[in-house]
Formats: sequence, structure tokens, C-alpha cells
Amino acid sequence: MKRYSVFAIAKQAMTHHLGWERAWAAPEPKKHYDVIIVGAGGHGLATAYYLGKNHGIKNVAIIEKGWLGGGNTGRNTTIIRSNYLQDPSAAIYDKALQLYENLSQDLNYNVMFSPRGLLMLAQTHHEVRGYLRTVHANLLQGVQTEYISPAKVKELVPIINIDGPRYPILGALYQPRGGTGRHDAVAWGYARACSAMGMDIIQQTEVTAVRSEGGVVKGVETSKGFIGCNKLGVVVAGHSGQLAEMAGFRLPIEAVALQALVSEPIKPCMDVVVMANTVHGYMSQSDIGGGTDGFNNFTQRGSFHHIEETLRALVETFPMISRLKMLRQWGGIVDMTGDRSPIISKTPLGNCFFNCGWGTGGFKAIPGSGWAMAELMAKGEPGPLAEEFSMWRFKEGKFIDESVAAGVAH
Ligand SMILES: Cc1cc2nc3c(=O)[nH]c(=O)nc-3n(C[C@H](O)[C@H](O)[C@H](O)COP(=O)(O)OP(=O)(O)OC[C@H]3O[C@@H](n4cnc5c(N)ncnc54)[C@H](O)[C@@H]3O)c2cc1C
Repeated sequence: MKRYSVFAIAKQAMTHHLGWERAWAAPEPKKHYDVIIVGAGGHGLATAYYLGKNHGIKNVAIIEKGWLGGGNTGRNTTIIRSNYLQDPSAAIYDKALQLYENLSQDLNYNVMFSPRGLLMLAQTHHEVRGYLRTVHANLLQGVQTEYISPAKVKELVPIINIDGPRYPILGALYQPRGGTGRHDAVAWGYARACSAMGMDIIQQTEVTAVRSEGGVVKGVETSKGFIGCNKLGVVVAGHSGQLAEMAGFRLPIEAVALQALVSEPIKPCMDVVVMANTVHGYMSQSDIGGGTDGFNNFTQRGSFHHIEETLRALVETFPMISRLKMLRQWGGIVDMTGDRSPIISKTPLGNCFFNCGWGTGGFKAIPGSGWAMAELMAKGEPGPLAEEFSMWRFKEGKFIDESVAAGVAH
């Protein structure tokens, strides 16, 4: 695979850019692989990448029923931050943020990471207390974040209305290192790097059953036939329940739709990302996000009541957007656990590993999650980043409760 560089662009310009090779190969599946990853979202692709890069395991297939990045990875609003409350969360999200900071160079692919700063507005006294608690926890964890005054919020976001009629702004949790990245580019960058290592990305191929013998995984049935493997990693977000059923066990997980919309393009009017969890909406320039549906479902579409609910919240916070036209609305199927923390775990089936439960906030975690999952799969035991995220914590009562710190969402 040729490297992308200024010189490569200049060279291609001489031949009208006709000489670029495909970013990743489209092979037919082999009969057997050392490792199969199900799901070519960001987490599945990152797992494959770090299996190759950190552990030298390259005989890997990533099997995707649709197109790579077409699940939640290509549908999210790209918020990246690491100021979560509990120690295991702060560790994995901050590892991810550190990897994001150098990801474009590492992958030789511009993932457009933009650390423009991220604000979570405090609009109730309960939120003020919650965010102050997070700041203190983050100080102990070595994760940089701060609590700022309404005046500082106004300075950072001149278009904001800090004296809203229902919920005036009382302050904000601010992480200057947080921001956004380009979601498709993250998936494409990892895919290209995996393909360059000789891994097979097999799209348009659905896994329909998991085959095992004597309690150990042997491979998967797919719409292109049986494919054998020594180890199986399942990273399918909202479809984790179905895949777990195929593997013979149940997961404490629910699938719901989470929606977002985007406005017509406008000139830059906001340099930071703002989340308003009380009124339930968040915005970064023209990307706008709302909440989850209140019922389990598998739709990837938007719905009218969410447009109304989310825009009402945001017009109150940013009155100038009231005359903006909305362009598109969509949904993704997110995978929610009871404590709002992920599962990166061995399972009751030997050599079968699951990574799921990232819910409404897993884009920011992609590099850290892939790193931790690759270590788990390569060694057969979790490393320090993954050890608290076992699926058995729900039996043992060792929850990693992020329902307050994660707020709505991201
Ligand atoms: C509207 C919305 C906004 C969001 N905003 C943010 C945000 O701002 N910040 C943030 O951090 N997170 C956000 N998220 C969450 C984030 O997108 C997800 O947590 C993350 O992308 C999950 O990635 P993944 O790789 O686990 O799943 P996915 O990207 O969904 O990938 C799973 C893949 O598995 C495939 N698959 C499923 N079943 C099978 C099968 N049987 N065989 C083969 N393949 C299969 C699917 O087709 C899919 O491509 C948002 C999500 C949504 C929907």
C-alpha cells in the first residue's frame, strides 16, 4: 500500500489522479483464519488493527454484513472527550483520546481530529454538583478537565443564551482537549491500515450462526458459507444480543435507536462543542444530536417527535439557530447496558470474545477499545484497560456506573 504524502499528491497530479490504488482490497473469504472479527465498525476495525500492530496477529478477517462504517460509526455526531467519572472509564477513554491525538500520523490517514474543546452545560444544581464531583475524580485520575463559570461559557460560545427562561446556565464542565473527529475517516483509516497488513475485510457478508465444538468456537456460518477460525471477536454494537444468542448465551444489553440531525451549512459560528443534557440536545457547528428512543427498536431512521424535542432544547440555548433549515435526520442502533459502561470480555464460549455496550458514546472510545480488545484476544486474558469491563460484573454487582457522568449521552 502506497503512503499518502504531499509528494504522492504532487505525483498523482501529473497523471490527473488516475494512478491511486484502492484504499483497501475486496477479497473473497479464505476457509480459515487465526482470528475472525464480526462487525467492521470502528471498534471491530481498531481491534483488528491493534491485533496486527501490537501483537503481530495478521491472519485476520473482518466480516461485515453491510458496508464498513455503515453502522453507528458512520452515524454518530463525532464527539470525543475523556472526562468520565469512574476510574476504569477515565482510563480507557483517556487512552483513546491520547491515541486520537496521533491517529492521523499513525494510520497515515487524516481522521480530522479537532481538539476544539468540549463543554457540558450545568443547568440545574444537581448537574453543578455532579460535574464538580467529576472534576475532582478526574484530578485524581490525571485526566485534565475543569469547571468554568457562566461568564467563561459566554466568552467561549458568544452565540449562547446563558439566561434561558427555563434553565439558565450555571456553569460547565470543560475539557479543552476534547472535540471531534471525522467518523468515516476513522473507519476508513483503520480499514486501509488493516488491508495493508494483509487482513481481509469482507463486506456484504452476514454472520448467521456461530459454530462450536466442546465449548470452543470453531467458526461462523455466513451468507457466503462457513468460515473457520481459532478465535472469534464479536463487535456488532446494536446486534450484540443476536450474536450472543447465536453463541449460546444471553447478554445484559438492550438495543434502541439514537437520533441526530444536521442543519444546512452555515459559516463557522461556534468553535467548541456544547452539550446541554438537561434540555437534552447538543451541537457542534451544524451537527445536532438528541436522545435515545424510549423503547427498544432496530430502526436506523429519525422520527418527528425527536426533531421537535431536540430543536426546542437547542433554540432555547442558541436562539440564533431558530431560522436554520434542517437538512437530514437519521438514527443508529445503540447497545445499552444497565450501568451505561461497555463490555470487553471473555464469554461462556471458549475463544469467543465480545466488545459491546458502548451505547450512545462509543465513537470517542474507538482506539482505546480496539487496543484493549486486541490485548484480550491475543493473550486470552484482559489487560489493565479491559479487566473491569467483564460481562460477569452484572452478576457480581461490580457495576461501573456512568449513568450520571455520561448524562444523556456522549
Ligand atoms: C446518532 C448517534 C450519535 C452518536 N454520537 C456519538 C458521539 O457524538 N460521540 C461518541 O463517542 N459516540 C456517539 N455515538 C455512539 C457511537 O456511534 C457508537 O458507540 C460506536 O460507533 C459503536 O461502534 P461499533 O464499531 O461498536 O458499532 P458499529 O459502527 O455499529 O459497527 C457494528 C457493525 O456490525 C455489523 N453487524 C451487525 N450484525 C452483523 C452480522 N450478523 N454479521 C456481520 N456484521 C454485522 C453492522 O452492520 C455494523 O457495521 C452516537 C451514535 C449514534 C447512533
